Amino acid sequence: MPKPAIKRPRVNVRRPDVMELVSAEVAVHYQSSLVEKIKDQDGKITCGNTTLLLAQDFGFCYGVERAIDLAYASRKVFPENRIFLIGEIIHNPEVNRQLREMDIVSLPWQEIDSSYDDLQPDDVVIVPAFGAPTSFMDKVEERGSYTVDTTCGDVMKVWRRVRGYAKDGITSIIHGKENHEETRATSSRALGIDGSGHFLVILTLADTDFLCEYIRGSGDKSAFLERFKGSYSDGFDPDLHLRKIGVANQTTMLKSETLEIQNRLATAIQDRDSAPDNFSVFDTICGATQERQDALFEMLKTRMDLLLVVGGYNSSNTAHLVEIGEKELPTFFIRDASQIKSLEEIVHFDLHQHAETTSNYANVFSGKEHITVGLTAGASCPNNLIEDTVRKVFALRGETLDL
Ligand code: SF4
Repeated sequence: MPKPAIKRPRVNVRRPDVMELVSAEVAVHYQSSLVEKIKDQDGKITCGNTTLLLAQDFGFCYGVERAIDLAYASRKVFPENRIFLIGEIIHNPEVNRQLREMDIVSLPWQEIDSSYDDLQPDDVVIVPAFGAPTSFMDKVEERGSYTVDTTCGDVMKVWRRVRGYAKDGITSIIHGKENHEETRATSSRALGIDGSGHFLVILTLADTDFLCEYIRGSGDKSAFLERFKGSYSDGFDPDLHLRKIGVANQTTMLKSETLEIQNRLATAIQDRDSAPDNFSVFDTICGATQERQDALFEMLKTRMDLLLVVGGYNSSNTAHLVEIGEKELPTFFIRDASQIKSLEEIVHFDLHQHAETTSNYANVFSGKEHITVGLTAGASCPNNLIEDTVRKVFALRGETLDL
């Protein structure tokens, strides 16, 4: 299809009059006075024989707040237009449900299908906080629709880094989940402005060790290409494209793991050719992810009986909070309070099985002894869901909160 005669500019929906209305609406949908009161009490609330600790940093980050504000503002600025969203604005079912209520329709984010061909110049397309691959942006531009880009500034920093790698002939090694929206968006930028760059996405320490062995010269090429199938750029040749590598990471990864990956790769390059210039690194974990992980480590210094982590199951930063917690104590990854079914039953997401499961913790919840429950939430979890969880815990313990 030819490019449209009119190229729509990016729209600034952040007008003061609009944002005033948006703030009021967002507050009604997502804020919680109870959570604010607990924060004012240094994150601790005790009622009867139950104490609840709230991490010092939890829930909505600045990037998520901005993305939600812009999505709400889009509907106000374009009350009559069709509004679409590439995938989900963030990884939280409640927030995405609210956007559907505003008649903001989700388009597929895995691939460009025929629904993109139906976009019209008066349509509005919202780009989520994770960003979108360049092919999606080009398609929306080609259709001439309005674009409201909510990509987080911290994600764009990663893009600048991998584009710089491509310009310098460096292959990007991206620590992330190959099928995560952000990593797909970042991978597309790692091809560089002229498309000549390369990337490889790795997720685990086992992936890293496999890659390190190849760098040291003892790997098998076909086994390498098979293992990482779907995780590298078109035309990627490990014999050619691992000469100079630069590491970047999805913004929401586990800090300790990312550092370990960087160290192992740096050592492998050093072992191979004693040329430090062939290895570049730039830590791209965002501040919000780091703060939530640090706050949880701090909270874990206090004895707790169990930990609840609230967030969408597909939320990467939330999953890493669960990983940190489950090393120390019984930890439950719940979408919302409704999953604490009863004193006997918690339905939660098992990261290892990649499925919901039900655990029986009757002894903890229904006993008469004093218990301490820890609570944190990922960067995409609104405070109203945290409040629901707090109230549910105390209600199941037979305590009435007078806050
Ligand atoms: S988690 Fe980090 S990168 Fe993602 S939206 Fe929040 S601040 Fe931005």
